[in-house]
Amino acid sequence: MNQNRRSFLKTLGCTCCSPLLLISCAQVAITDRRQLSIYPESIINQNAYNAYQNIKNESKLSKNKLFNRQLNSVGIRITRAVELYFSNLGKSKSLDSFDWEFILIEDDTLNAWCMPGGKIAFYTGILDITKDEDGMAAVMGHEIAHAVAKHSVERASQAILLNVGTTIIDTLLDGALSSSRVDDYVVQLGINLPFGRLQESEADYLGLIFMTLAGYDNTATIGIWERMEEASKGRTAPEFLSTHPTPGNRIKKIQEWIPEINEKYT
Ligand SMILES: [Zn+2]
Repeated sequence: MNQNRRSFLKTLGCTCCSPLLLISCAQVAITDRRQLSIYPESIINQNAYNAYQNIKNESKLSKNKLFNRQLNSVGIRITRAVELYFSNLGKSKSLDSFDWEFILIEDDTLNAWCMPGGKIAFYTGILDITKDEDGMAAVMGHEIAHAVAKHSVERASQAILLNVGTTIIDTLLDGALSSSRVDDYVVQLGINLPFGRLQESEADYLGLIFMTLAGYDNTATIGIWERMEEASKGRTAPEFLSTHPTPGNRIKKIQEWIPEINEKYT
């Protein structure tokens, strides 16, 4: 362990009143939840961008004009609504680092994800679950919410704090930022590593708000989780469910939130 890393870890491990931690907290817009933010967003976004380019080069992208148009239309409509809302709140700056992009990958897997910085992918398999534009907006809203709430930055920061992400710490402090190890880690953050329960619930809540702001029917979200549950019966859970808690009481929560959200954000 080099000198830099030793002193960095010492600072982190000190106490929650450490000046480093005090200046390293962020606040999630709308929910106002405080979150750890040690990992530089610019680095995570750059690595996500690289990883996304690789995925685009290596995956079979769908050529279906209708679905591609639908995906882009839903994505653009929601992100514009979010940007307008944040602008009205005076919080546009927190979206400055986003460069939204939407791709449809030809793959039967029931999956969709959003990498840091707004790099989104849907797999054609999940179109059986989304069914229509409102359904697509429900999944899109949820994925956009993970990105806007900067859940990946939070998780990378937590990994550093817990001394789990030793590779990341080395990389950060040694300046080897183009390391493929970091790219791999970012891919894991964006696609494979499950978000925590709190982050999932927050993405459900914000996702509902975002699709509502864009004028979609937010009750479509309930159908999504019902169909996800149905699809997971009697076989291995769909990819999307393996990285998300099972539908169960999240439908109940969504039903509770909808009237409040309709009143406030329609
Ligand atoms: Zn999620």
